[in-house]
Amino acid sequence: MSTAPPYPAVLVNNVWSIGSGEPLDVFNPVTGERIACVASASAAQVDAAARAATRAFASWRHTTPVERGALLRRMADQVEAQRSCLEALQQLNSGKPAFEAGLDVSDVVATFAYYADLCAAGSGLLPQAVALPDGDFSATLEQVPVGVVGLVVPWNFPMVTTAWKLAPALAAGCTVVLKPSELTPLAEIALLEILVAAGLPPGVVNLVYGAGAVGQALVQHPAVAKVSFTGSNATGQRILQACGPRMQRVSLELGGKSSLLVLDDADLDQAVALAVGGAFFNAGQMCSATSRISVARPLYARFLDQFVAAAEALHHGDPQAADTTLGTLISQKQQWAVLERIQAGVADGARLLSGGNALAGLGGYAIAPTVFTEAEHSRALWQEEIFGPVACVRAIDSDAQAVAVANDSDYGLVATIVAGDLDRARRVAAGLEVGTVWINTPQLIFPQTGWGGFKHSGLGRELGPWGLQAFQELRHTVAPR
Ligand code: NAD
Repeated sequence: MSTAPPYPAVLVNNVWSIGSGEPLDVFNPVTGERIACVASASAAQVDAAARAATRAFASWRHTTPVERGALLRRMADQVEAQRSCLEALQQLNSGKPAFEAGLDVSDVVATFAYYADLCAAGSGLLPQAVALPDGDFSATLEQVPVGVVGLVVPWNFPMVTTAWKLAPALAAGCTVVLKPSELTPLAEIALLEILVAAGLPPGVVNLVYGAGAVGQALVQHPAVAKVSFTGSNATGQRILQACGPRMQRVSLELGGKSSLLVLDDADLDQAVALAVGGAFFNAGQMCSATSRISVARPLYARFLDQFVAAAEALHHGDPQAADTTLGTLISQKQQWAVLERIQAGVADGARLLSGGNALAGLGGYAIAPTVFTEAEHSRALWQEEIFGPVACVRAIDSDAQAVAVANDSDYGLVATIVAGDLDRARRVAAGLEVGTVWINTPQLIFPQTGWGGFKHSGLGRELGPWGLQAFQELRHTVAPR
């Protein structure tokens, strides 16, 4: 696939065309070099995509779950077969180290395979009898596709956030218009090329590239019955307001400010390893980053020493190189925004133990892994999502305080607990206002478990059967026996 302009980034009825809207430069964030110029979709192209999805819905909704499952299975197989191309694009356009790009592709394959299996089993897709207390009547439940869905995704996990929406939407019998992030279209476009080649009927999945205005045109299109969005809280709120007047269904996966809790019986090496992964994977650009680290006081000093040493050992460089363990920020704007937060934290009196600076590296947008203490009184560091490689560590004196510190947030996406006694860890987990708790494990996300958060972290859940239900309406029929 060529990255030379012009770059076809509009897919309607399985035909790729060049956008007639604003051209946008796409960069390699490791080097800062422009790698493509991609023209956005025009309003007319967004309309054409939504109309194509509407026409395709008339027949796609009547395909059987087994037929849809067979297609999803072929998609999983084809993505696996094209793994190396997708990984290379993910590294080129997102600056992810090789092993992170590999995990992303594995996640996409697992998600398509999971919804293929649900379809094959008919799980959540076939009419079900509903037991009634009155023997004179019978009731049936049908879970029917909601219609044309608009999927709007961010740049931090291109392909992954798309797969989490696309696979269940197709499994449910919906048709789709996808808008990838303006910063990271390349792997998304390649993914859709693979899905089309796997046998997607025309119009079932369409793609419109562009920035916020294109997303806005999509979510406001009268044909779009449901919007599924992953991204920032500010955009999520705008989408919720835009969808309100027409009662469009909305799912939102938004931000986080999550905790890693190290209890006093934790294995220190394990705690440090989980803290490094939770704060610095994808250069900290994770909604699930556990960037607030609370450590039981008896372990606190040793934890800090080991954590700083481990952060300083991370190496940024060519993402293809086997020793690269730290990715880059996605853009210069993001790099500046994170550096501003770091400076605000220092000005607020937080203590900078390590990092805090841009990494010249190959010319791109990396920031050194950054560790603060005494950051609790800095709103910029302790309460707001930073979306960069910045961790704040504090001491705690009890499990109750660990829970209180973790819950003292507008967000409620995830938490990690590191503890020797699993029962004790489960008791702490039971007090947390978050959608996912990991105990003594890295941030494993299985398609079988739901994803989403409490409070400002979003509305609804993705993955698992809940991800499928997000694209369905319920219809009950009651009749005499
Ligand atoms: P963003 O909100 O700026 O953009 C997300 C997407 O929305 C992009 O495709 C963008 O073009 C589009 N968009 C922007 N304005 C729009 C509008 N008015 N109407 C419709 N679409 C619009 O977010 P981002 O900077 O790309 O991503 C970072 C954010 O995403 C972080 O806050 C992060 O926490 C969140 N995120 C959450 C999850 C999760 O699962 N909870 C996962 C990944 C990222």
